[in-house]
Amino acid sequence: MYEAILWHKERNGVRCDLCARRCFVAKGKKGFCLVRVNKDNKLYALNYGKLVTVNVDPIEKKPLFHFYPGSQALSIAAAGCNFRCNFCCNADMSQALVFEKTGVMPGKEYTPEKIVELAQEKNCRTISYTYTEPTIFFEFAFRTAKMAHRSNIENTFVTNGYLTRDAVKKIAKHLDAATVDFKASGDPEFYKNFMSVPNVDPIFTCLKQMKKQRIFIEITDLIVPQVGDSVERCRKLASWVVSELGSDIPFHILRFYPAHKFLELPPTPVDTLEKCIEAARETGLRHVYIGNVAGHEAENTYCYNCRELLIERKGFGVKKIDLVGNRCPNCGAKINVVID
Ligand code: SF4
Repeated sequence: MYEAILWHKERNGVRCDLCARRCFVAKGKKGFCLVRVNKDNKLYALNYGKLVTVNVDPIEKKPLFHFYPGSQALSIAAAGCNFRCNFCCNADMSQALVFEKTGVMPGKEYTPEKIVELAQEKNCRTISYTYTEPTIFFEFAFRTAKMAHRSNIENTFVTNGYLTRDAVKKIAKHLDAATVDFKASGDPEFYKNFMSVPNVDPIFTCLKQMKKQRIFIEITDLIVPQVGDSVERCRKLASWVVSELGSDIPFHILRFYPAHKFLELPPTPVDTLEKCIEAARETGLRHVYIGNVAGHEAENTYCYNCRELLIERKGFGVKKIDLVGNRCPNCGAKINVVID
């Protein structure tokens, strides 16, 4: 156990200030995520350094398409989640149910030093805190990210965006980029009914704060057929992104595949995704991508000004990068992309 970051004492217990649930945790109890426990009126992280994933991925898998494209990321994850998604493809690990059943936290022991060493050894430009929700292993992520910066390795979160202001503020100095994942274009009813999330507003607040803290942002939107596939809602989310974050934020529209309790649903039809892409582009977003449809033309990056092909991709692979610094080689337009 490791003493948690971001909590305070209250009468008869403690309050966790890490994610927007802000659980009150009585003595001997755990928070909603099941990995933070009140022991003698102090909050501890149960999953510190116990990693269920440590592997190298193309950064495109996060997805981050505009942040060191074509580079490798060391991906790490610990058990736990602050959401309960009916379509989670990693439910046992992300919801720490293994721990609840066996009393043994899943994963192998690592130290931040070891993770940074591995990233260097494997030639990774970044460490990505991903697969499960990084907020839930914040203490380990924070220490690792701080150490990684000293070795010139950058850090990225793949997150549901349910962090408190204090959490964003705490990690901002060491967090270079974030992929913030929406489902069903942020439909509050969908979040309530299928993800046990009472209020989506904190996600929008978190995004605005990330922008303020100059964290590079990409957004994903998982379109779930039948229950979360409104083109108009997708348009609304894209409009919000344009007005609050900017038109050059990369926006990924993801195809759903059946998982967990949503096995009866089919994969999202590609034409639904294409309609969402069109709607998102109509709002003025410059870089709208398709996800989980390998070989689709909408995986590529085009210049928003002259339509020159700048980055050609297939799935998570980058076939060609044609940029001069961060500018289009044809018309000189500045592209919102971070490259070495
Ligand atoms: S991280 Fe979120 S879910 Fe977990 S204890 Fe804290 S407030 Fe509750």
